[in-house]
Amino acid sequence: MANFNIDSKKARTYDAIVIGSGISGGWSAKELTEKGLKTLVLERGRDVQHIKDYPTTNMMPWEFEHRERLPKEVTDANPIASRCYNFKESSAHFFVKDNEHPYVQDQDRPFDWLRGYQVGGKSLLWARQTQRWSKYDFEGPARDKFAVEWPIGYDDIAPWYSHVEKFAGITGNKDGLDALPDGEFLTPHELNCVEKYFKEQVAKQYKDRHMIIGRAAHITDPQQIHLDQGRAKCQHRTMCERGCPFGGYFSSNASTIPWAMKTGNLTLRPHSVVHSIIYDDKKQKASGVRVIDATTKEMMEFYADIIFLNAAALNSNLVLLNSTSSRFPNGLGNDSGLLGKYVAFHNYRASISGEYEGFLDSTTDGRRPNSGYIPRFRNVYKQETDFLRGYAAGFGANRITYSDRTGIGESLKAGLLETKYGNWSVGSHMMGETIPKETNYVALDKDQKDAWGIPLLKISVAYDDNDEKMIKDYIEQVSEMFVNAGFKNVKANDGHRNPGNDIHEMGGVRMGKDPKTSLLNKWNQLHACKNVFVTDGASMTSTSTQNPSLTYMALSARAVDHAVKEMKAKNL
Ligand SMILES: Cc1cc2nc3c(=O)[nH]c(=O)nc-3n(C[C@H](O)[C@H](O)[C@H](O)COP(=O)(O)OP(=O)(O)OC[C@H]3O[C@@H](n4cnc5c(N)ncnc54)[C@H](O)[C@@H]3O)c2cc1C
Ligand code: SF4
Repeated sequence: MANFNIDSKKARTYDAIVIGSGISGGWSAKELTEKGLKTLVLERGRDVQHIKDYPTTNMMPWEFEHRERLPKEVTDANPIASRCYNFKESSAHFFVKDNEHPYVQDQDRPFDWLRGYQVGGKSLLWARQTQRWSKYDFEGPARDKFAVEWPIGYDDIAPWYSHVEKFAGITGNKDGLDALPDGEFLTPHELNCVEKYFKEQVAKQYKDRHMIIGRAAHITDPQQIHLDQGRAKCQHRTMCERGCPFGGYFSSNASTIPWAMKTGNLTLRPHSVVHSIIYDDKKQKASGVRVIDATTKEMMEFYADIIFLNAAALNSNLVLLNSTSSRFPNGLGNDSGLLGKYVAFHNYRASISGEYEGFLDSTTDGRRPNSGYIPRFRNVYKQETDFLRGYAAGFGANRITYSDRTGIGESLKAGLLETKYGNWSVGSHMMGETIPKETNYVALDKDQKDAWGIPLLKISVAYDDNDEKMIKDYIEQVSEMFVNAGFKNVKANDGHRNPGNDIHEMGGVRMGKDPKTSLLNKWNQLHACKNVFVTDGASMTSTSTQNPSLTYMALSARAVDHAVKEMKAKNL
């Protein structure tokens, strides 16, 4: 007679479990399954299959009831989500709604937590900017004496950047800049005439500053590896946040998840809310995870030899904090008491606008899912200013267009149909590094729980004096660059956006050399529970000025490589 308990446990046992199917989880799953491990991906949200589940992807503007804008009742009901520029009628279905997944914020420290709970996570919504971090980023904390020293340097991660770039498909130009290492690039997008003009002006007037075309996860000339994924050349529609039927940009849905599925080694389980990781006292390692089925609310367990935690930075903190046992009463791996602390983000508060009166005989045609980029130029080689670290900046130029809206009947129609051209509008926004601090933290709320009985996350994160000084410097420096380039009507704006609205939250489970001051070692492995790996933003020791997701991809692939070698050597 069969023993149903043993059979059922066997059926719920895998070589590896990945928690979360977004950018980092997709990469963990791809690498684990390619290396032959039977892998279970647990995703709290619904399934979103490439193309099939992109309901708005081919809709014309007039096919949307509200012409792509959202009614007031929707924005009123979602004050946090609607502060994201991508929360539109065409893409709102990929965002977490405010009232469905509440969290606790300190009243005087508001934090906009933007999330996508579905297969693919936020990889469906991201802006696809993908810069490598430089050696100056990894050396930052040690040189400037904040947070803790990174346990890895640029050389440790460089081959893994190459590995993920080739597969994901990154467009960019080899610019040869110290602060922004070159990668494995597909054909770069082009700068337009005013952007080229600004680039020349910057090069002429500043030895330490550059303006380049952005590096982005778009396939500009598909290679065999992209065709093998069923992806095609980007058509420059710039409707990426709806999901792209061409797979023109990198998402887990178009790339890593179907690739992992093709190996035959992947089991994808949507609607699976991970409650906690199970720690086995006898074996002194994790044995699996507790999951609550999102629809039936049934609690169940799954087992594996190794666990990759990729629930996105703050949710990975939540899962570890909620994983308590007699060995770890304050959260899995939390011997140092630092779990949840040293959370940081990117300072996107300020922007500069202006106009250019040249090139009035030129305009642009079509769309480009990318823009210009000014890599960090402050404090790169040594400390020079009254604030630590620095900022990168976006840059873009577009011809101002308008039409004559006076008149009535035929004359109004004629006026509306004739596009008139004004000056060029130019704009920039800052992307500042913030300093991780113990006072910026997340914790579990003692009283309040979510609909699945899991404690709500309490977030207490704010800007500091360093951020204010950096904003002032960005405004002064980039305004000056605009004026020196002959731009007119230059205006600066501090939008006072809340931390979190940058959607680059990081830390809480930081990497480091010393278990007393960090949670993870140089392989993203919990110091105190070696078969649990955290390879998303939670693991970041500091934040750089570069966008973070490419680094999460590279860390995930690198950690899987190590984990599988260790497994084979029977060290895990
Ligand atoms: C509008 C926008 C623009 C952005 N632009 C850029 C950019 O240009 N460049 C860049 O580098 N980054 C950008 N980002 C950020 C980028 O999307 C994230 O850094 C990236 O998606 C993080 O990957 P992740 O795997 O950690 O998390 P996600 O992609 O968010 O995936 C996490 C997954 O885990 C699941 N999950 C969470 N909790 C649980 C649980 N308890 N149990 C089971 N599953 C769980 C979630 O449902 C989700 O599917 C942008 C984000 C947005 C929204
Ligand atoms: S711009 Fe490219 S990636 Fe974005 S939706 Fe269009 S084709 Fe797809």
